[in-house]
Order: sequence, then structure tokens, then C-alpha cells
Amino acid sequence: MIDFEEAREIVIKNVNELDRIEVRLVEALNYVLAEDIYSSLNLPPFDNSAMDGFACRFEDTKGASESNPIKLKIIDSEPAGKVSQRKVSSGTALKIMTGAPLPEGANSVVPVEFTQEEGDEVKVFKELKEGENIRLAGEDVKSGELVLRKGTKIRPIEIGLLAALGQSKVQVFRKPVVAIITTGDELVGLEEALTPGKIRNSNSYLLWSLILEVGAKPLDLGVVPDEIGKIKEKVRKALQEADIVLTTGGVSVGEYDLVKEAIEEIGAEMKFWKVAQKPAKPLAFFTYQEKFLFGLPGNPGAVFIAFEEYVRPSILKMMGRKDIFRPEIEVVLNEDIKKKPGRLNFARVFVQKKGETFYASLSGHQGSGVLKSFSQANGIALIPKDKSLVKKGEVVKVQLLSQELFSLKEN
Ligand code: AMP
Ligand code: MG
Repeated sequence: MIDFEEAREIVIKNVNELDRIEVRLVEALNYVLAEDIYSSLNLPPFDNSAMDGFACRFEDTKGASESNPIKLKIIDSEPAGKVSQRKVSSGTALKIMTGAPLPEGANSVVPVEFTQEEGDEVKVFKELKEGENIRLAGEDVKSGELVLRKGTKIRPIEIGLLAALGQSKVQVFRKPVVAIITTGDELVGLEEALTPGKIRNSNSYLLWSLILEVGAKPLDLGVVPDEIGKIKEKVRKALQEADIVLTTGGVSVGEYDLVKEAIEEIGAEMKFWKVAQKPAKPLAFFTYQEKFLFGLPGNPGAVFIAFEEYVRPSILKMMGRKDIFRPEIEVVLNEDIKKKPGRLNFARVFVQKKGETFYASLSGHQGSGVLKSFSQANGIALIPKDKSLVKKGEVVKVQLLSQELFSLKEN
């Protein structure tokens, strides 16, 4: 049995970035950039007005106020997208809309709220500063600037930024296809009758959505009975279609735990089996050519932990991400946690911030088969392998599952 840290290192060392593909910008969401993006233009591309109003010379507005307006002659009107050929000189103003190019000669814009139009003149009720209400060319992005680095996850904000830069296509890392094979004679589907001794197959659904959420492509290959021939057949099929194969169940030491044997008989190389952790002790990891197989335990809580700790970072690395692990913080325990020494425990906790300190409480039943307590957790506390008791008030590390933690109100 190996330790968690070593097991995870073996996994991460073995997986690599997948190949690069080019995608259209509209399809790029949740991919990871496989190229540095330099801007070929200034953003904004030209000096322009930040307001609807009048472009003028700030020197002309000196002393202007509500009771002492100054008058300027309107020489032209410029909507967004049009360029006026007129030049603003002392004593004149050009009517301008937000985003329209600043006319030559102007050095400020008075917003329409501080003006009153009278025929071909405008009264200005406010003194302006030089450059007021003007957006300068390149104030956002300068031509030639490195805007986005290779390895950046493309979120909606990056899509918007890339569009502004005129990138209709981008180079990204391919998303892995992740096959799910569920084993167990006791499993029934959601629409089937739950006869004695049977349980619902929740793992397929859990894994499907975990894979989707991390940004990869799930491929559900269904439920296989506990028969070695059938398992081998399914795993072979999975290896043809997927980059990663996940099996659930059948990797323990029971009589019907045939998955490990099946995968090895296919010719995959087992890198480890059994990790000193709870849940997910019987986790197995294999490589096959450039592909990876994880023999996940059957218990849903163990499936979740094994995915979080091993599969998720692997997928992220294959997708080109640099930040592949959950952020970790130190928290103060609100209660004693007892355990048997010898295995690292992943405890489901609810973390709350009080003042400057984070506090964690167990979020419910910690059994390997239990999912509900994960639903009520926003973090996974790492209870060290060799401890048998961590006391209330002691500090432990927590992996944050939910960004929503940061928006929790202090109380
Ligand atoms: P196993 O590792 O195959 O012995 O399974 C361990 C436990 O997980 C047993 O209680 C199984 O009934 C349960 N289990 C296995 N597969 C699933 C699944 N797909 N969905 C829900 N529970 C499962
Ligand atoms: Mg089983």
C-alpha cells in the first residue's frame, strides 16, 4: 500500500498534455489555450469619447458653471462608427456619441447632462480637465502586448477579450474523452424496479457530471456484470474510444472483484493498487500505451474522492492547465475528529469564515458509501495518516471544493 502523495505523484507524472487543435472562438469555452495570444492592435484602437456629449478644448471651459455657462459653436455631429473630417478649434465643439473617435483638436468631452443646445451653439455648464471623458487608444491593450498566456482556461471573459482582439480561431488543447464503465450485479437503472438486494447505479451519473464539469468529454459505456470476459470486452472497447477509462466497483478483494485482473489481462500496466487513504483505499491505476485507466472503488463516496484527488487533476493536466489542484487553506476544527491511524482520511467538511479565520465542521456521515454529506460540504479536510485524533481547535488543511465559500457571509 502506498501513500496518497506518492500515488498522486505517480498519476500526475504519467499524464501529459493532449495534442493541440484549432477551434472557432464560439466553441472555445472551457478549453485551455495552447498558444500565447499577442495583440496585433491597440484596444481601444483610437482615442474616443467615453460619453455622449460635446468634444471641445478644455481650455475653453475655464470658469464655466451652472450660473456662468460658456458658449461654443457646434461644427459637426459624429455618431459612433463615423469619423468627422472637421477639426475642433478654440470656441468650437463637435457633437459626439459614446465610442465615436475624438475629432482632431479636441482634448476633452463635456457630457450632454452638463450642456444645453441652442441652435448651432451649445452652452457648457461645467469646467473640464484635460483628457476628461476620453478613452485613449491602447489604454486597455497595447499593440504587441502579451494578453493571454498558453495554459489559460478560456472563460466567457476570455472569449470576449479574444473577440475584441479579432481572434476568430484559437489553438487549444484537445479535451480528453473519459469512458465510464460501471460494474456490479447488484446495480439497477433509475427507471427499473428496486428489487431486494439491488441498489441504484449512482456512480455513472456522478462520474458523468464530474467529467463534464471539469471540461472533458464523458462517454458512458453502461453497466457490466461481474464476469471477467464481459469486463475485458468493455474495457477493450473503451480503450479504442477514450483517452481515460474509469471503472467503478470490483477492485477490492472480494470474490467478484475482477476488474483489476481484467485490465491486467488486456495488457495494461498496473502502476499501483491500494492507497493508504480513506475512502478509496482499493484505487488502482494503469497505463496502456498513451492511455490511462483508473479502477475506482464501487462506493459512491470513494468514487467522488478518487475523482477529485486523482482523475480531475489528470484531466486538467491533459487539457493543458497549470493549476490542476484545488486551492488549499488552513482551517481550525470546530470538533474532535477520531480515526484509525495508518490511512490519510479525507473528511467532508463545511468551512465558514469568522473574522480572519476559517473554521470547519464535519458535514455529516463520513461513510464511503455516503454521498449526502458531500452535498453539504464545501471542502475536504486532510486528516493526517498517522493521527488517531485531531482535536477541536487544531489546524488542518482543507481543499476547497466550492468557490462559493468566498461569498459566504461572515457571522
Ligand atoms: P464493490 O467495490 O464492487 O464491492 O462495491 C462497493 C460498494 O459500492 C457496494 O456496496 C456496491 O453496491 C456499491 N456500488 C458499486 N457500484 C455502484 C454504483 N454504480 N452505484 C452505486 N453504488 C455502487
Ligand atoms: Mg462490485
